Amino acid sequence: MEDCSGSLHPKAGEGIKRFNQREFFEAHEELETAWKEENGSIRDLYRGILQVAVTYLHILRGNYEGAVKVYGRSQKWTRNWADVCRGVNVRKIREDAQTVMQEVLRLGKERIFEFDISLFKPIQWTERRQWFCDRCGDQMYETNCKVICPNCGNRFDCSDLNLYFD
Ligand SMILES: [Zn+2]
Repeated sequence: MEDCSGSLHPKAGEGIKRFNQREFFEAHEELETAWKEENGSIRDLYRGILQVAVTYLHILRGNYEGAVKVYGRSQKWTRNWADVCRGVNVRKIREDAQTVMQEVLRLGKERIFEFDISLFKPIQWTERRQWFCDRCGDQMYETNCKVICPNCGNRFDCSDLNLYFD
């Protein structure tokens, strides 16, 4: 799959922020919106993260069968990506979810309420910032801390930009 350049749909970014606050129901809703509005194969990644969120929600609610079932589905959509896609560490999502499910299977249906939620690790995501040229208004591209306008050649160093934008 090649759809890993560029930035996430804004709703997918919102979903990840919710996920990282362990608001898995809200994460699911944001990611579903992103999934509906987005074009291209990146939708499958949103669906995968969405299903991990739903898996975690089932665990919080003590729904063992639901967690096992949705986790099984999610694997199809979180596989086959680069380790980092659109700034999202997909490999870590897979590994974290696998660790979670090993614990769920170990506890079993009767003891799922004993699940330790500290195993719900946040998604690592480097938000890609968008720059617009102050001379011509074109969108600028950031590569290795150099921000360049493809239209007029205007350029900054990202360490300078932090003074203005952070
Ligand atoms: Zn420009």
